[in-house]
Amino acid sequence: MFRVSNTMEPFGIYVHWPFCLSKCPYCDFNSHVRDQIDQDRWCRAMLREIKHTANHWDGATVTSIFFGGGTPSLMPPKTISAVVEKVGEYWGLDQKVEITVEANPTSVESGRFAELKNAGVNRISLGVQALDNDVLSFLGRGHSVTEAIAAIEIAATHFERYSFDLIYARPGQTLLDWHQELDSALALAGSHLSLYQLTIERGTPFYGLWQQGRLTQLDENQAAEMYEFTQERLSDAGLPGYEISNHATPGSECQHNLLYWHYGNYAGVGPGAHARLKKDNQKYALERRKLPERWLQMVETEGHGTRQAEALNTNDRLVELVLMGLRTHRGIPHAQFLSEIGKPIESCLDNEALNAFLANNLLANEKGVLRATASGRARLNAITESLLA
Ligand code: SF4
Repeated sequence: MFRVSNTMEPFGIYVHWPFCLSKCPYCDFNSHVRDQIDQDRWCRAMLREIKHTANHWDGATVTSIFFGGGTPSLMPPKTISAVVEKVGEYWGLDQKVEITVEANPTSVESGRFAELKNAGVNRISLGVQALDNDVLSFLGRGHSVTEAIAAIEIAATHFERYSFDLIYARPGQTLLDWHQELDSALALAGSHLSLYQLTIERGTPFYGLWQQGRLTQLDENQAAEMYEFTQERLSDAGLPGYEISNHATPGSECQHNLLYWHYGNYAGVGPGAHARLKKDNQKYALERRKLPERWLQMVETEGHGTRQAEALNTNDRLVELVLMGLRTHRGIPHAQFLSEIGKPIESCLDNEALNAFLANNLLANEKGVLRATASGRARLNAITESLLA
C-alpha cells in the first residue's frame, strides 16, 4: 500500500504512453503506431524507470500524475494502477493528488473509464478536437461527433473532473462557425476546457500539404480575432482563461499543467518524457529516449531511458521561468523569481521593451507579480522575444 500525506510544495509525475491506433496528420507528438505491444514488458519498464528516478533524484510527495501520449487510455488499466501504486510507494501521494489520463473519445476507450477510475484516476482529458464530422475526418481523427458526445457523457458520469480539447482557427473556419461550435462545446463542458489554435508543425503531413500550397493557414488577424472572442465567451460562461489555451472554473485548473507553468519540479517516465528535477540544490532538465524500442531496451539494461540530463544555468532558468510564467493568468511572482534567479525580475529583462509593454497594457506589474494581460497573452511570442533580447 502506498503512503498518503499532505504537502505544500507541488511535485508531479508525467508518464508518456507513446502509442496510438493511427497517426493524425497535424500531430508532432512522440506517438507511434505498432501492430503489437508486449504489455507486460512495457509495464515492467515503466515501473523500473520510476524506481530509478526515485533513487537518483530529489523528489517530494506527489501532488499530480499525468498520463499523456500518444493515447494513454489504451494502456491496460492494470498498468495505470501499477504505476500509481509504485509512485505512491516511492514518493507518497498527497491526499488531494490529481491523476489525469488523456483519452480519445472512441467507444473502446470510453468503455474503460470505470476501470480507469478503479485504478485511481480522478480526471479525464478527452481529445474531442472538433464537433463537426467533416472536420474530424480532415483532422484524421478516428471518432465521430456522436461518439465524442457519448464519451463526454460517460466521462461526466464517472469523473467529477473532466475536460476536453478542441482545435480552432482551422483552414476555412469562420468566426461564426467557431461561435456555434463553442456554444455546443459549452453545453457539454464540465469545469475545464482546452482550446488550441491549429498550428502546422514541421515534419507532419499537414506541413507537406502547406508547403505544396494545398493547405492554407488562417490569416493571423482572423486567428487573433477568434482568440479574443474565445477569451470573452469563456469568461462569460464562468470558465476564464488561466493559461493561453486553458479555461476552468476557479479551483478546477489542471494542477499538473500548472506545475509546468509555475516552474515546479516533476519527473518524466516513458519514451520522450521530459523532467525538471533537482539534485544537490541544482535544477536539471532531463529527456528520455524518444523511440519506444530504444527506450525500452535502455531501461531493461540500465534501469532508465535518459538520453540527456543537463544542469540548467541561471540564464536557462531565467528564460524558462519567463516563457512559462507569462503563459498563465497568475504570472511570475517577484519573490519566486528572486529565489530562483537571485536577482530582481526587472533587472533581468530588456527595460525598454518592458516599459513599452506595460504602457500598452500588454503586461501588468503589480502586487509583486509580473503578468501578461489577456491582450498580452495573445501576442506572447513577440513579447517574450523582446523581453529576453
Ligand atoms: S491521437 Fe493524439 S497523440 Fe495520437 S496521433 Fe493523434 S494527436 Fe497525436
